[in-house]
Amino acid sequence: MLTRLGVAGWPVAHSRSPAIQNAALAAAGLTDWRYLRLPLPPARFAETVRALPAAGFRGINVTIPHKEAALALAHEATPTAESVGAANTLTFLDSGAIHADNTDVTGLLEALPVDPAGMTALVLGAGGAARAVVYALRSAGAADVMVWNRTRERAERLVADLGGRVVGEPEAAALVVNCTSVGWRATDHLFKSLPLRADTWDVGSYVADLVYVPGGTRLLAEAKQRGATVVTGLEILIAQGAASFERWTGMTASRGAMRAAVDENTKIT
Ligand code: NAP
Repeated sequence: MLTRLGVAGWPVAHSRSPAIQNAALAAAGLTDWRYLRLPLPPARFAETVRALPAAGFRGINVTIPHKEAALALAHEATPTAESVGAANTLTFLDSGAIHADNTDVTGLLEALPVDPAGMTALVLGAGGAARAVVYALRSAGAADVMVWNRTRERAERLVADLGGRVVGEPEAAALVVNCTSVGWRATDHLFKSLPLRADTWDVGSYVADLVYVPGGTRLLAEAKQRGATVVTGLEILIAQGAASFERWTGMTASRGAMRAAVDENTKIT
C-alpha cells in the first residue's frame, strides 16, 4: 500500500510542495510514497484531516488558511508550534495521536546564510508567516526585531505574543524579511505597499522574501542590485519542506533534488 503525504490548503493549486517533496521521496528511494495536493475548505479541514491516517497518510503540510486550526486539532505539539500559535506540519503517529510542528521557523534559520544573533532585523507583515519569522529571529538571538504591518493592531498583537517592537517608519536593518504577500501578483506596487526606501538596507545587509514567483520577486532584484545578499522564498520553502520530510520519514531530504525539481526560472541568486 502507498504511504501518502500531502499539503492541505485553500487554495493550494499554486503550491510547489508536491514537486519538491516528490523529488525528495524519489531521491531517498521511497518509491511507494506519494505527496499529494489536498484542497480543503476551512469547514471541511478538521474532519478530513482526522480521516487521513485511515487512508494511508503519514503526515501533511498545512498552508493558508489552516495553520492555526492544525495546531488546535493536534493532540501534541512542539514548543515551537505552541509558541508561534500555528503549525505547518502534522504527523500521524502509530499511537493514533496527531503531532504538530512548525518547520517555517527552522526553515528560515536554515535558509539564512548568516547567524541572526545580535543583528537588527525588520519583519514586514504580521500574519502567520511573520509570526514564525519573529519567533525564529528572537529565539536565534537577534538584538532588535522591528515589526511593521499595514494593519498596525495586528503587529501589536504579534509583538505582545512574541516580542520585538512595532514600527510605523522602519529604521535601517541588517536583515529585512518580507512576510507580506506583496510581490505575489505582478500588479503589486512594492514601494507603495511596503515602507521600503533606498536606505532600508545597506550594502552587506541581507534581504529575505517569503514570496516566491517564477523569475524571482522584484524586492529581491532591487535588493540585490543595491548590494544586499538575498534569500529566496524558494530556498525557505525547501528548508521548511526538508524538515517536514525528515520528521515523517526519518531520512535526510535531498535539498539538491528538491531544488532541481522546481523551475530554474524561479531562482534569482
Ligand atoms: P497571511 O497570514 O494572510 O498574512 C498576509 C500578510 O500580508 C499580512 O501581514 C497582510 O497585512 C499583508 N498584506 C497583504 N496584502 C498587503 C498589501 N497590499 N499591502 C501591505 N501588506 C499586505 O499570510 P501568511 O501565511 O503570513 O503568508 C504571507 C506570504 O508568505 C504569502 O505570500 C505566502 O505564500 C508566503 N509564505 C512563504 C513561505 C515559504 O516557505 N517561502 C512560508 C509561508 C508563507 P494586513 O494584516 O494589513 O492584512
